[in-house]
Amino acid sequence: MQASSGLKLVHVAVGLCSGCLRQVEAALSSGGELHEKSILVVSGAPSHIHAREIQEAWRSLPEPKVAIAVGACACSGGVFRECYAFRALNSIIPVKVMVSGCPPPEEAILKALREEAASADVDGYRGAPAINEELCVACGLCSRECPPGALEAGEGEKPRLNQWRCISCSRCEMICPRGAIEMTPRFTISLT
Ligand code: SF4
Ligand code: SF4
Ligand code: SF4
Repeated sequence: MQASSGLKLVHVAVGLCSGCLRQVEAALSSGGELHEKSILVVSGAPSHIHAREIQEAWRSLPEPKVAIAVGACACSGGVFRECYAFRALNSIIPVKVMVSGCPPPEEAILKALREEAASADVDGYRGAPAINEELCVACGLCSRECPPGALEAGEGEKPRLNQWRCISCSRCEMICPRGAIEMTPRFTISLT
């Protein structure tokens, strides 16, 4: 995939997991022409020590430019969000596009690179869970057990999904005593 003449595309991968790194590389190698902007893609959960590297990469890009967060770690910190060293990406650079998933599929990353807001089902991938409100009895188990705290609920309330934190682990689907949660192949690309 090529940025137009004079513009640049930079991918900064931080953290330990290479899941998003591989997906971004697959998307970037798929060929085709990008829009008329420089692009900074960030995957992984940034820490304080990554902040300068990300800022320098951002400053090095010519205008017009756009920053894209790929995957739960870059969008919210995922399971690392409460780590002492974690630093939210949007406190480092102005993030314009976010892609949910752990990792997101190549198709979703391609839409993000083209700045297409979308909610897409991608066969063969595990995306976000769906909660059946009629079956849910608000027992709170899924909220307590979700590793990244992606199911938010007050006392006695039914859970609401924070898709930017969800790591698609399917624990909620497995433990819900009412069978009210089902994993779906759904990914979201959002423009902020
Ligand atoms: S979002 Fe998931 S796949 Fe991507 S870097 Fe984080 S843990 Fe790895
Ligand atoms: S575990 Fe199931 S029944 Fe309990 S709050 Fe979650 S979705 Fe509702
Ligand atoms: S699949 Fe369910 S338990 Fe796992 S992170 Fe997403 S909301 Fe939480």
